[in-house]
Amino acid sequence: MSENMLTLQKVTVDFSGFKAINELDFQVAPNNVHFVIGPNGAGKTTLLDCICGKSRATSGAILLHGKKDLTKRSEEKIVHQGIARKFQAPSIFHKLTVMENLEIAMKQKKRLFAMMKAKWTKTEKQSIHDMLDLIDLIEEKDELAGTLAHGQKQWLEIAMVLVQEPDIVLLDEPIAGMSKKERDKTGELITKIAEDRAVLIVEHDMDFVKSYADIVTVMHEGQVLFEGSMDEVQNDPKVREVYLGR
Ligand code: ADP
Repeated sequence: MSENMLTLQKVTVDFSGFKAINELDFQVAPNNVHFVIGPNGAGKTTLLDCICGKSRATSGAILLHGKKDLTKRSEEKIVHQGIARKFQAPSIFHKLTVMENLEIAMKQKKRLFAMMKAKWTKTEKQSIHDMLDLIDLIEEKDELAGTLAHGQKQWLEIAMVLVQEPDIVLLDEPIAGMSKKERDKTGELITKIAEDRAVLIVEHDMDFVKSYADIVTVMHEGQVLFEGSMDEVQNDPKVREVYLGR
């Protein structure tokens, strides 16, 4: 069995007496496209929040590669240790070009001040070029990011996350507001991303989950209700009762 990249052991996130996540055991394996689904209030966002350090686990451990408990580390430290998150709303710089946006992400990795001129090594130049290629924006590299289509903005932001070279990428509803064509392209992009790392995605669109999931975790009331392939999820009576309401 392959070693889990990320392991949550009995993690609880308590908001003034309310446990949004309650003694949750959860693992993410390498090279998996791992979806988390569940009804509103199930604890999906809190799960991503506590993995990336935005919310603090009140008890339990979050281990990366079986060691390094992340529960006390800052968000910045967690990014540097290999977990990067793209939030739902794009946060790209609209008045900078596509290329400049990627360069800013690269500067963050090198911990350079945003306005400082950086000299890129050959490897870094290649990495930026590879990212443009991956998200199919080579032709648009000198265009202002604000002029891109919605899907392209989302892909640019995913690339800005990937420049940080994470082992695990966390995505929050990556296809929200996208056209069918953009959704398909995003699914292909996510599949490619998982060739070298793990991708953990909170998603509501069940067709999308079914098309691209290696594994699906169903959350309910801060705990794992069921885990398996989307076919198994859809056929599980507990899931049908709690989540699908039938
Ligand atoms: P989901 O993403 O599955 O919809 P969330 O993780 O956003 O669920 O929320 C899980 C539960 O925790 C909800 O009942 C929500 O109201 C509660 N919750 C989330 N964040 C906070 C917070 N900062 N303070 C208090 N309660 C919160």
